[in-house]
Amino acid sequence: MRIRKDDTVEVIAGADKGTRGRVIRVDRGSDRVVVEGVNRVYKHVRRSRKTPKGGKLSKEAPLSVSNVLLVCTSCGKATRIGVRFAADGSKERFCKKCGASTGVIGVPAK
Ligand SMILES: [Zn+2]
Repeated sequence: MRIRKDDTVEVIAGADKGTRGRVIRVDRGSDRVVVEGVNRVYKHVRRSRKTPKGGKLSKEAPLSVSNVLLVCTSCGKATRIGVRFAADGSKERFCKKCGASTGVIGVPAK
């Protein structure tokens, strides 16, 4: 799982193909992510104290990480991500298209 919370991703499969959005939640166990504005589903709810009117509730549903690509902050393209060691020994993610680092994900190994 190379996608993290607050990353901007592009959807590459399904009904929301081509849509870009911010990652609001990452579930490592099931390899799923929730992306802002993507994969919206309606939940029909009965009248209750919390929802006095009942009706439909629109909400983002999780989608598989394999259906999204990270959008590179440097070249702006949806890209695959590599992981490499930076000069100081810390681990970083990088864009496979332009080679720019997209952020450090680990502390330097001693
Ligand atoms: Zn790039």
